[in-house]
Amino acid sequence: MLEPDRETRRAWTDAVGAFVEDFVAGLAKAPASEPGPADLREFLAEPAERPGTFDELLATFGRAAGYAVETAGPGYLGYFPAGGLLSSVLAETLAQAVNRFTGVADTAPALVAMEQAVVRWFCRRFDLPDGAGGVITSGASIATLAALTAAREDRLGGPDPLGTIYVTEHTHYCVAKAARIAGFTSAQVRVVPVDEGLRMDLAAARALITEDRERGLKPFFLVGTAGSTSTGTVDGLDGLGVLARREDLWFHVDGAYGGSFQLTDRGRAVLRGVHRADSITLDPHKGLFLPYGTGLLLVRDEDRLRRAHAADGHYLQDLDREHDLPDYADLGPELTREYRGLRLWLPLHLHGVAAFRAELDEKLDLAALVHRELSADRNLEVPLAPDLTVTVFRSPFGDATTERLLERINGTRRIFLSSTRLDGKHTLRLCVLSHRTHRTHVEEALDIVRRAAREC
Ligand SMILES: *Cc1c(COP(=O)(O)O)cnc(C)c1O
Repeated sequence: MLEPDRETRRAWTDAVGAFVEDFVAGLAKAPASEPGPADLREFLAEPAERPGTFDELLATFGRAAGYAVETAGPGYLGYFPAGGLLSSVLAETLAQAVNRFTGVADTAPALVAMEQAVVRWFCRRFDLPDGAGGVITSGASIATLAALTAAREDRLGGPDPLGTIYVTEHTHYCVAKAARIAGFTSAQVRVVPVDEGLRMDLAAARALITEDRERGLKPFFLVGTAGSTSTGTVDGLDGLGVLARREDLWFHVDGAYGGSFQLTDRGRAVLRGVHRADSITLDPHKGLFLPYGTGLLLVRDEDRLRRAHAADGHYLQDLDREHDLPDYADLGPELTREYRGLRLWLPLHLHGVAAFRAELDEKLDLAALVHRELSADRNLEVPLAPDLTVTVFRSPFGDATTERLLERINGTRRIFLSSTRLDGKHTLRLCVLSHRTHRTHVEEALDIVRRAAREC
């Protein structure tokens, strides 16, 4: 009853194909946000005993998806855009259809080899040495947890009330969250001051580490951010890497947003020193335009990740582990996992790496344009130049005006921006990152922002 016949399969597949085509074709004109329905009852209907109709259910899904911020569209410039590459969507469909088990290498070695080729390729992009490796995760949060756990085992030998972690106020909260899960209190997460460019202050970091050590604490984990969430700022990774090495700390680089720019020459210059990292996270569901749910953890020494996560059970005794391939279950918290490799493998091979590089270079150019244009507008205050593709700005007339500005901008429903706080002030951010956002969209966004700033 659960396996449809050929004709039904075909009808369902065609209906999904038509839906996807209409959706993608409609994105150019779709509103940037659609307020939620007044009444959610339709969407709260519980599963019934009797069967439903595929077309009706697909229509319900379509309506539900419509009440949303249009995160897939060209006008989405809030948080970190990532349109959701169609080639990756199709890869995911294929991966789910064959439903291979890739928690261990033995049950689908060639598929694991394809995934591993992608992981190794990324390791080389970051100039990590032989012995480096990693795992494709659901996102940077889980990748960070795995990295911190590996560092904890490697440097402290397990949970330790004396271990200390170094971040700044601009470090993503996923580090504090991972610390809590991995058995550290918030007092063990030490906040290092930033310089006027919002980068971790190297001298202050060195002083705090020394001071903590003198107090009998055990500094073990230093986080450098390659593209902060509020402003896209990249820490001075080279200096932090040298400091971490000298002080024998595990150096973790959070490149969830900015890591992908390593594919470009300009990105490589901004991320200089990233090769010193013991672990790096990046989110292909941000900087490589993939659908949500794909993060990547790279580590300098795969064995350290394995020592922190490997486990065994009698029920796995049939697996002979003959291949020179990792069992991904040994490299992170998951055993059963989706075959995430194809999501990256297919787009990278199909479009070619140069297409991704060109797309990221275009985003850097567009962000420079945004910064130039908004800086020249007397109705706006632009406190910072972008390291990558986030531009921050606000009204010079205070928080209330800046909040009104955001309402007006998003109220056009042509674009969608988000906000943050900076220097204690309400601040708007415009991030160019979608593969669907090009020059015409950015010019329209600039017109909208300038007009709103005039009128606020
Ligand atoms: C998005 C983001 C994260 C969290 O990543 P998820 O994939 O959402 O778990 C961590 N760090 C930075 C800098 C981010 O931008």
